[in-house]
Amino acid sequence: MGLTLARDAGRAPDAQSPLEIRGLTVTYAEKPAVFSVDARFEPGVMTAIVGPNGAGKSTLLKAALGIVRPVSGQVSAWGAPIDRMRGRIAYVPQRASVDWDFPARVIDVVLMGQYRQLGLLRRVRTRHMEAAFDCLRRVGMDGFAERQIGQLSGGQQQRVFLARALAQGADLYLLDEPFAGVDAATEKAIISVLKELRQQGKTVVAVHHDLSTVPDYFDRVFLINTTRIAEGPVDKVFTQSNLQEAYGGRLATAQMNALG
Ligand code: ADP
Ligand code: MG
Repeated sequence: MGLTLARDAGRAPDAQSPLEIRGLTVTYAEKPAVFSVDARFEPGVMTAIVGPNGAGKSTLLKAALGIVRPVSGQVSAWGAPIDRMRGRIAYVPQRASVDWDFPARVIDVVLMGQYRQLGLLRRVRTRHMEAAFDCLRRVGMDGFAERQIGQLSGGQQQRVFLARALAQGADLYLLDEPFAGVDAATEKAIISVLKELRQQGKTVVAVHHDLSTVPDYFDRVFLINTTRIAEGPVDKVFTQSNLQEAYGGRLATAQMNALG
């Protein structure tokens, strides 16, 4: 690992890449959750982050965003420190990690996505409101603008958080298990929005738990189990042997069968 760091230290980050991670190690109480991981993501590409429970998938996203501090490694966005690019990056956290009881209407949650444009003390103007409604429409939730966020189903909440990410107008979208525990209609709505973003040249990186939909939804796959197992185009990298290596004995036969 020392060699990798020494070699990479001299190389300038790639200005074309929306997210580049080098030699990233994150530990909790001295136990590594992510160890010496390299990753580089490209514009207009959708990548699935795949690995067993506890593999460090959420930690990887959080460290990329600077929410958790790595013990070593570098993260850059468009060749710059992530802090300077935050406005161009949208994050949809794992649903279980969000407190759904906070009192806010759906429309307010979406407007929060625009706070960088709004500024904290500026008034919300008609065009901001229209933009927020447009984002709700894109996820099929425009009929729920006045509803309290806590009164929505899990799938509806997930769509609202995607609408907030859209309102931000970001170029890089990091989503943590966006399809976990959602209904079929929500899954369809979310995947079509993500494919639309890809069409517009945006970068989508999503932690994804359902192996059977990986080939249909994603261009590339990043397999992780604390360390990087494999990364590349789905047809090359999403193989039984790589999955076996990532999941070990934890890969259920049913999941393997789903892969055909
Ligand atoms: P995944 O998203 O792949 O399920 P996580 O990144 O959430 O994995 O967790 C990776 C490892 O780090 C797990 O062993 C988990 O228990 C541990 N972990 C995650 N968050 C914390 C935390 N805040 N404090 C201590 N340990 C944590
Ligand atoms: Mg997770």
